[in-house]
Amino acid sequence: MIKQSILTPHDPIEWVSRSPKETMRFAEQWAKSLEPGNVILLYGDLGAGKTTFVKGLAKGMGINPKEVVSPTFVLMNQYRGRWPLSHIDLYRLDTPEALSSFRIEDYMDPNSIMLIEWPQRLKEACPRNAIRVILTHEGESQRRLCIVYP
Ligand code: ADP
Ligand code: MG
Repeated sequence: MIKQSILTPHDPIEWVSRSPKETMRFAEQWAKSLEPGNVILLYGDLGAGKTTFVKGLAKGMGINPKEVVSPTFVLMNQYRGRWPLSHIDLYRLDTPEALSSFRIEDYMDPNSIMLIEWPQRLKEACPRNAIRVILTHEGESQRRLCIVYP
């Protein structure tokens, strides 16, 4: 279902998850369609499941999901799986000062898969050639996942 090559244009994916476990399993499968250089922008409110999605994705790349912790305060965590994985959370980048001294280009790496939570903080500096994952709350344990390709 999600075993498409990243080199061909993709149709968007829309899917409803009914538990954190389902979100993780979906992301674990979807991870197989990724390759180094892919940038994934994760949109959604606090608690929408962005970090849960990253845990599942990490699992799909051979990384222990328990090792994956939110990088809210450290900005970036890196993991070594089938490919190197960079997990960035820009939630704290919420002042003009913080933003002006931050350059996303310094974190870009063509050999890694890059996951960015709160990419809207980057405004016009937001990477363009990226896959967008949009998570929305639909209830206590229900989330809608949309994946949109560039
Ligand atoms: P974010 O990184 O978007 O702030 P987290 O992944 O850290 O969100 O947290 C999501 C929270 O929502 C967790 O407490 C998780 O258990 C809960 N949750 C409930 N249902 C789901 C679901 N279907 N998918 C993902 N998380 C869910
Ligand atoms: Mg998070």
